[in-house]
Amino acid sequence: MNRFWSSVVQNLTPYVPGEQPKQSDLVKLNTNENPYPPSPRALQAMAKEATETLRLYPDPNADRLKQTLADYYRVTPQQVFVGNGSDEVLAHTFLGLLKHDLPLLFPDISYSFYPVYCGLYDIDYRMIPLNEQFEIEPADYAVPNGAIIFPNPNAPTGRVLPLSVIESMLKQNRESVVVVDEAYIDFGGESAIALVDQYPNLLVIQTLSKSRSLAGLRVGFAVGNAELIEALERVKNSFNSYPLDRFAISGAVAAFEDQTYFAESCQRVIATRGFLAERLNQMGFQVLPSAANFLFVTHPDWDAAELAARLREQAIIVRHFKQARIEQFLRVTIGTDEQTQRLLDALGSILNS
Ligand SMILES: *Cc1c(COP(=O)(O)O)cnc(C)c1O
Repeated sequence: MNRFWSSVVQNLTPYVPGEQPKQSDLVKLNTNENPYPPSPRALQAMAKEATETLRLYPDPNADRLKQTLADYYRVTPQQVFVGNGSDEVLAHTFLGLLKHDLPLLFPDISYSFYPVYCGLYDIDYRMIPLNEQFEIEPADYAVPNGAIIFPNPNAPTGRVLPLSVIESMLKQNRESVVVVDEAYIDFGGESAIALVDQYPNLLVIQTLSKSRSLAGLRVGFAVGNAELIEALERVKNSFNSYPLDRFAISGAVAAFEDQTYFAESCQRVIATRGFLAERLNQMGFQVLPSAANFLFVTHPDWDAAELAARLREQAIIVRHFKQARIEQFLRVTIGTDEQTQRLLDALGSILNS
């Protein structure tokens, strides 16, 4: 509380991101960053931007990036919106498309930024519980609503819905916007972008932070019907004309052009995920099926917070959420094979102590 703060600020409950420690020798498995470097072509393209032209503003519409994304996903540039990380794209979506008289629906266990945006923009919402297996139950969303949003694969569970189920939800909800947050889709799901031409109420949001190893660059995008995109442009142009700088535009374009590198690094993460899941199972962990670059795990004999603290003593950080239903779970980002071995060695010594 502060007498100089606006009433809006007094009432905010800000999002708390996973820790970004200054200590560099940590095995950092807490914020779902990619363990592999960005495409060398993306790095080269960004290096080329470090010239005197930085005195000029970037393209406010990032047309080159929109065209690249449109070609990649076989849509038109008018169906693409780009922003400073998908968090910014989400923020504009909450204000521009998800604020209505009826409540916004999202899962009770989901991306914890959603209720924060609802607080910021004063959006009424209702959380729909995941089922006992931590899955989204599509039928639970067939109730009057202002709009719907969920991640697919879901975070922090890692569970994915097939495209056919998403399509059934779209058919059930033709009168409200349905947003699919596909931050992790490249690690094992089928993108709903394939459905945007058929469903004018569908918006798909993705990021370059996870599968394209560019969390530090801050680039996210949305694909949907041109009228939904126009709503986002209206919000963006009332907020910041230049959300993407020259480095971000060039780096993102080059990252999408380097398909071979992208496919290979996703495959490596997916292979390590399978290996780690198997080993954790052998150690007695229950491991939820994951289509993302992390595993959501629990051990019947160990308190999750205690395990996280013990791992931290061994310089390994994973994410623990102090939240009902999942306080006995840990979310473990898929690292390199070497980091994975260090994690397994540390868990082996803790579990046998
Ligand atoms: C990581 C993540 C984002 C945010 O990604 P940025 O593009 O880095 O802002 C959005 N949604 C979900 C579900 C995420 O896990």
